Amino acid sequence: MTLIKISALAMAMGLCSVASQAVPVFPDSDYNQAVASVEQVLGYPLASRISEPAAIKQYFEQLAQAHPNRIKLVPYAQSWQGRPLFYVVIGSEQNIGRLADIQQQMQQLANPQRIDDRQAKQIIDQLPASVWIANTLHGNEISPAESSMALAYHLLADQSPQTAKLLENTLVYIDPLQNPDGHSRFVSRYYATVGLAHSPDRLSAEHNEPWPNGRTNHYLFDMNRDWISLTQPETRGRVKALQQVYPLVFVDSHEMGGDMGYYFSPEAEPYNPHIQANQRQSLQWLGENNARWFDKFGYDYFTREIFDAFYPGYGASWPLYQGSIAMTYEMASARGHQYRKADGEILTFADGVQRNFVAFMSTIETASQRAPELLNNFYQYRKDAIAQGSSGSVRSYIFPAGRDSAGLSKLGAILTEHGITVGKTTEAFKACGESYQAGSYVINTNQPTYHLIRTLLDDTVPMDKEFIVKQEQRRANNLPDQIYDVTAWSLPLMYNLPVVSCNRAVNVATTAVTTERVLAGSVSNPQPGYGYIVPWGDMAAARFASAALQQGIKLKSSDLPFTHQNGKRYPAGSLIISKADNGAELMTQVQQLATHSGASVTGVDSSWVTDGPNFGSFNVKTLHKPNIAMLWDEPTNPLSAGSARFVLERNLNYPVTAIRPAQLRGADLSHYQVLVLPASSRGSYQQALGNTGLANLRSFVERGGVLIALGNATDLLLAGDTPLLSSKREYKVRDGDEKKAGKEMKVAGSVIKTPEDYQQWLVPEKADPDWVPGFLARADVDQQHWLTAGVPETVNSIYVGNQVYQPLTIADGRNVVSFAPAEQLLAGGFVWDENRQQIAHKPLVMVQGVGRGQVISFTQEPNFRAYVDGMHLLYINAVFRGAAHANPLR
Ligand SMILES: [Zn+2]
Repeated sequence: MTLIKISALAMAMGLCSVASQAVPVFPDSDYNQAVASVEQVLGYPLASRISEPAAIKQYFEQLAQAHPNRIKLVPYAQSWQGRPLFYVVIGSEQNIGRLADIQQQMQQLANPQRIDDRQAKQIIDQLPASVWIANTLHGNEISPAESSMALAYHLLADQSPQTAKLLENTLVYIDPLQNPDGHSRFVSRYYATVGLAHSPDRLSAEHNEPWPNGRTNHYLFDMNRDWISLTQPETRGRVKALQQVYPLVFVDSHEMGGDMGYYFSPEAEPYNPHIQANQRQSLQWLGENNARWFDKFGYDYFTREIFDAFYPGYGASWPLYQGSIAMTYEMASARGHQYRKADGEILTFADGVQRNFVAFMSTIETASQRAPELLNNFYQYRKDAIAQGSSGSVRSYIFPAGRDSAGLSKLGAILTEHGITVGKTTEAFKACGESYQAGSYVINTNQPTYHLIRTLLDDTVPMDKEFIVKQEQRRANNLPDQIYDVTAWSLPLMYNLPVVSCNRAVNVATTAVTTERVLAGSVSNPQPGYGYIVPWGDMAAARFASAALQQGIKLKSSDLPFTHQNGKRYPAGSLIISKADNGAELMTQVQQLATHSGASVTGVDSSWVTDGPNFGSFNVKTLHKPNIAMLWDEPTNPLSAGSARFVLERNLNYPVTAIRPAQLRGADLSHYQVLVLPASSRGSYQQALGNTGLANLRSFVERGGVLIALGNATDLLLAGDTPLLSSKREYKVRDGDEKKAGKEMKVAGSVIKTPEDYQQWLVPEKADPDWVPGFLARADVDQQHWLTAGVPETVNSIYVGNQVYQPLTIADGRNVVSFAPAEQLLAGGFVWDENRQQIAHKPLVMVQGVGRGQVISFTQEPNFRAYVDGMHLLYINAVFRGAAHANPLR
């Protein structure tokens, strides 16, 4: 039954700012009353209120229950706070009726090695196109989630011939809310600040979210960077769901600053070279059709200027490497009900809801019109990928079995989650002239995911040369660069796992690697005479130590490597558990700990060593179970605080107490042995803590605490009259004349000879080094120090920003990890030459004894996105071995 006909005139009303609409505005819609509107289900009109996660779920559940022939709801993950994540699929009755067949046929297209072109054509002729619209990944980007309800309503209720035509050959998948925890945080705090009227003023409390804002998930991760290493359950669920469906077009709908307008494809330069020409062509069509619709409605938009397609860990990137089309859409955010823009106009929440809705409809139309082409391109992409992996210079990657088997099994599991076939070899073999042991991992590149494999595993994915030339020109003119995110993300480098690429496929017996990240460990000689040894050096041993300490098991850890009488060499840090120190149930406990942690434990019948310290040596320390506190709240950087907590709590299952900086001014910290200072973002620790806070920190360390500073929190250690760390932060290296900074109004005359000199002259004398967007930096590890126990001779750290610190002199402390010499510094990605020169040999990790305690600085973030796994052991050593090397009164 016809309820509302939207005329061309009403459509033109879309030009004006609207407070809210009962229904979305779309030309010639003809809404069927039998489909419940948002107002009928939730009690308020569409876009008149920012819906909470539970309300969004309620609306979609109602639709799915009422119209099972047209819409299906599929749960795919659960957030940390226990909220369900789900998607719905909407289509014609006919397509929803054969959904299982459609998905099965998409699977066939996705695996072209199993079909020929004739079969593919038959499949393509029967398949609809598909669009996946993902919303509100950043929880404070509010309009997309609401637009998803508008879209679902429109697709189900509109009886117009044009909607029927779209759905005849197109399935629409909607993920309404990708980050329910962050969204809930935003919504509850937004409404808590609202008074009689919603303020549009950017100064108002409702437009200034408290720390941490709603962008991130529960562990404060930016999930729009997480698609590489899949650290968060929300991302893992999505990646799995997408591989069941393989949507042809993926939209990640976001919001940006309130003054910005609307952004859609095509993306900014640089493009990742693994994106194919016809994918870029499709991005162009989609953008052009969006523009056509935006022109009809009179909505402004922009393309190309920001939001690049280089980093593969965005939601709008990952599907591209599976052969689909993926884009980000960005709407200016009202960040509440209304927002006064810089030009004085009022932007409303409803404006955003309506614009996203139009962009979605336009995208669905493009997919519908181009259905056969998109299907064919998808099939062809995956078929070509196999061919490229069978003929190019990189036909296999081999990860030799070796030091870090826990890291290797985790990486293998993650690559498997990405849809990459990974084999674990069951026999020794030779490839490209080298011999490898059984247990090595092999990836042949003749797979439909060839481009994803290359993107994730190569040291460097090159940026377009012209783009780099342009960036160097901008720098020469003292303009900021246009690189949007890090330039390096190679998983083998980040996990610090050696990998060999080979120009031939490897044929060797393998077992298929599964998505199980932690493989069960084992105990050899489980009923020993003396006790047990756990070799240190990977996360399995660290998980073992964490669980053992929490169970009250007495553990020792050797500062030096040793060789046991049984002939086996154990690295520094290895754990020693004697039966004499522990209870009768030790054997059972060790067995269970080994199983769950993945550690390889050896039972030993005697304590005798043939080389290195005996277990009663002063070089063997007791590990105490430390109480760990961490600063949490302004001015900490939420990403740093979140990942620092996540690595301990979720990779290691060890609890952390979060403390607000205001408490630290006067709090008695004697209950804690370790205090972590995450990097700061807004404001400085010095201001937040004041002199009393700083004095309290010093007294904490002097009494035997371990203070660990991450990234720029190192600056706090250098502050005050008696700094806790004897390093200094460096300015940019200057070439050219010193500028005189006197108070005189007139100075001696000078001649500026060249345009280069002129640009140089403009730079203040005390400028920070240029900002580095992010590369993988090689660093050398002092093998003699207790802090580096079990860590290999080199590590790769992400380097982002402009911090360079001077090394400690030996009178003050040790630089236990230092950046490599300039020629070897760059492990992956891109760095400006001046920075490379200045960073070389500077400290990455410093340690200085202060009183009875230890001060440890990581000058770059070791927990960056929690995906540089090769750095985690250093951080864990700082916590657990640091606590063992402090001497509080016990
Ligand atoms: Zn966003």
